[in-house]
Amino acid sequence: MTQETQEEAEAFPSLTEEQIARLVPLTTERDLHDGEILWEAGDRNRSLYVIVKGELEILSGTNHVVTVHRPGAFTGDVDLLSGRPVVVRARALGAARVLELPAAKLRSMVQTDAELSEIFLRAFMMRRLILMKQGGQNVLVIGSRHCAGTLALREFLTRNSQPHAYIDVEEDPAIQETLDRFAVGIGDIPVLICRGTQVLRKPTIEEVARCLGLDTLNETVVRDLVIIGAGPAGLSAAVYAASEGLDVLVIEARSPGGQAGSSSRIENYLGFPTGITGLALASNAFVQAEKFGAEFAVARTVVRLDCGRPYRVDLGAGTVVQARAIIIASGVRYRKPDIPNLSDYEGIGVYYGATPMEAVLCKGEEAIVVGGANSAGQAAVFLSGVCRRVTMMVRGPGLSQSMSRYLIRRIEETPNITLNTGTRIVALEGNGRLERVTWRDGSEATTTSDIGHVFLMTGADPNTAWLQDCVRLDDKGYVKTGSDLDAAALAEARWPFSRPPGIFETSRPGVFAIGDVRAGSVKRVAAAVGEGSVCVQLVHKTLAESVT
Ligand SMILES: Cc1cc2nc3c(=O)[nH]c(=O)nc-3n(C[C@H](O)[C@H](O)[C@H](O)COP(=O)(O)OP(=O)(O)OC[C@H]3O[C@@H](n4cnc5c(N)ncnc54)[C@H](O)[C@@H]3O)c2cc1C
Repeated sequence: MTQETQEEAEAFPSLTEEQIARLVPLTTERDLHDGEILWEAGDRNRSLYVIVKGELEILSGTNHVVTVHRPGAFTGDVDLLSGRPVVVRARALGAARVLELPAAKLRSMVQTDAELSEIFLRAFMMRRLILMKQGGQNVLVIGSRHCAGTLALREFLTRNSQPHAYIDVEEDPAIQETLDRFAVGIGDIPVLICRGTQVLRKPTIEEVARCLGLDTLNETVVRDLVIIGAGPAGLSAAVYAASEGLDVLVIEARSPGGQAGSSSRIENYLGFPTGITGLALASNAFVQAEKFGAEFAVARTVVRLDCGRPYRVDLGAGTVVQARAIIIASGVRYRKPDIPNLSDYEGIGVYYGATPMEAVLCKGEEAIVVGGANSAGQAAVFLSGVCRRVTMMVRGPGLSQSMSRYLIRRIEETPNITLNTGTRIVALEGNGRLERVTWRDGSEATTTSDIGHVFLMTGADPNTAWLQDCVRLDDKGYVKTGSDLDAAALAEARWPFSRPPGIFETSRPGVFAIGDVRAGSVKRVAAAVGEGSVCVQLVHKTLAESVT
């Protein structure tokens, strides 16, 4: 069996008679006439249909047939769990009969019937993978490989599992015809055509999320828990909190996965002996959290936390959500080294992550990786598989103090990776994209080389500016928790209880900090995930506690 047919078989399984019989009490039977539309792309919370008689076709964009469901098969995709707008449409092919299972009933059923839950979840995830590979017809991006905005846009769509077709103006001269059809000039790229109708020129990720319905949230309810940040720490907390019955909303400024989502391969995370891409880890965790009922709003940035109870999370432009407990999981952001013109080349030669998307851009060419920590080592090893040569540049005398032994060995054993110690980049040049890099070594000698790709992995600072004076931070801006808060800090913060703050609890009761943003945290995926699970136990306690 080829990989493609294997994927098709996993994506479109048939239910047994016994499995269908288990679903019958939750469903209603419906007869469909030829051509009857069950749902359109963009609808939300549609039902799941099990085909009893006849056929149902699933179409994307302008009637491209994704699959035809026959008796025993069932409809559905990850959107059924999340309530996000659906990306395909469904139509009866001839007269048909189906069993209709409403989305709300499906969501509670997957939490109780382990066998059906596994069949549905695996099928939904495989279907989304197939749609992503097919490119989908619902969203079209027209851009250029030499345009930073194009890379950012495609990364956002990919990391949010949004199928999209892509046309590169450098490779497809006929594209001007499509652009003319929408009265779009070449200077407007990247252009995103949303559901075949709405044309977004140079859109921000917030505009794209709005168009695709990824950013919706309900402001009227007071949540048990709001989690800020959907990196590994926030995703883990969402899985545990939602699975334990809490009403959880996760707010994410960009895409689920955080820093880990930009990793080409995580090799030290328990249970994945051959490693797992950051994208796969993040999208599995995202679906898992949604399966348990966690809600997500992406491309939404928290600008302020108001520290009166219930806590008020301010998303700017008048949008506020309230919660009885808060988890801060906002992680860190890449530090930008002091190199003149750096921002001119971001996304067009200078990158802060090394995923297959960036790798395509430097295939067969030379690349520089700056940094001496694990993220830099991983990037160098990954890029050595696609680039002709990779030069690692570190300021210090070597890698041994900052990098795991297994990565150092891998680097030493890879013939097309060179390590330059005591070295720093001093100039970047190029016309419209990065073309030349100059660096200075320990002897102060400078070298200039025609290299068009630089990956910067040079450490990070905490994302805590939005917290202002709500919780105590350390001198580097990381959030202090638990025993890091001494009596003076607690008195200053007017800590209201006789008990001290719990582990991961900040100077505000019921406000927790986990993962990389927490002072003293171990900057690892497993640590962030572990803190997320432990923290939820403390959230339960705080919800039962009242302020004296
Ligand atoms: C390239 C790379 C490779 C790595 N490889 C490994 C590895 O192999 N093994 C390993 O163990 N670790 C690895 N790490 C480290 C690991 O990824 C981090 O330790 C981990 O991601 C920390 O998780 P987190 O959830 O605490 O924070 P983050 O991953 O930083 O996630 C924080 C999230 O919060 C969001 N956010 C920030 N501010 C706001 C706001 N105001 N409002 C809303 N959302 C906000 C951000 O957009 C982000 O998505 C790697 C890191 C990088 C960069």
